Amino acid sequence: MNTRYKDIIGQIYREVKALPADGNVADYIPALANVDPEQFGIAIATIDGEVIGVGDYQSKFSIQSISKVFTLAMVIRHMGDRLWRHVGKEPSGTAFNSLVQLEWENGIPRNPFINAGALVVTDKLMSLYSHPKEAILKFVREAARTDDIYYDKNVAVSELEHGSRNQALGYFMKSFNNIDNDVDSLLDVYCHQCGITMTCEELARSFLFLANHGINPHSGEQILSVSQAKRLNALMLTCGFYDESGEFAFRVGMPGKSGVGGGIVALIPGQLSIAVWSPRLNKYGNSNLGIETLERFTTYSGISIF
Ligand code: GLN
Repeated sequence: MNTRYKDIIGQIYREVKALPADGNVADYIPALANVDPEQFGIAIATIDGEVIGVGDYQSKFSIQSISKVFTLAMVIRHMGDRLWRHVGKEPSGTAFNSLVQLEWENGIPRNPFINAGALVVTDKLMSLYSHPKEAILKFVREAARTDDIYYDKNVAVSELEHGSRNQALGYFMKSFNNIDNDVDSLLDVYCHQCGITMTCEELARSFLFLANHGINPHSGEQILSVSQAKRLNALMLTCGFYDESGEFAFRVGMPGKSGVGGGIVALIPGQLSIAVWSPRLNKYGNSNLGIETLERFTTYSGISIF
């Protein structure tokens, strides 16, 4: 990889680390409240196989909603466009765990990245795979090119025990016949996928198939069709940051996905994927310094999807 990116992320790391601490770690999932908020890492993976990183880029953290991208890819590769009868493709303009639109819209969530939409996707995944938790780990491990990826049971159990809102979403959608499986089993799989722990390096690698026309650049496997990969990127651009998606597109200008563990992964099709981790979140549940970092990355490097 060109030393240019290395210099750029080194500079951004120093600048962003010096910014005043702002925001709090997610504490509505008790197991996430104990994370050291000062941790900060950045990793870039290119489609030609190089990886560079700075800071805590090899430390594991809870990927949370970033997992929604993996489950969506697993489901659309099997279901194709049939999925869109059960979940929409529009930005929601509401918080990630909001219930308000669901009643007006007959239990069809706005998009697959708000919690309601992700629950629908995971429900479909459970109907497609007899061992969904094993299938998710296998998919993520192949995408990231490592077997060293696991569920953090503490986080999964902690979320399950404090998951009243996600339960409400699940039962509410079931009342509209938009959930096929038992809601408790659905929440178990969903909380496990959110509790996967990965490093910035692993996350950057694992998103490369989306930067490479649906093909895993390492194995050559076509994971999604060219069109499906483009569409998944379009959804990340419009919906990947909940009601901050417009602001993220405006300031950063990359398709990406955040999680309340403080991670963000974003990509430039045809070139690279970049992952950032800093646990302090803004009011939308997105990493404050993560967004700062990515904004500086597209500004300093000049690369853009536009
Ligand atoms: N597991 C979290 C939840 O369902 C994921 C939220 C997120 O990362 N935005 O509340």
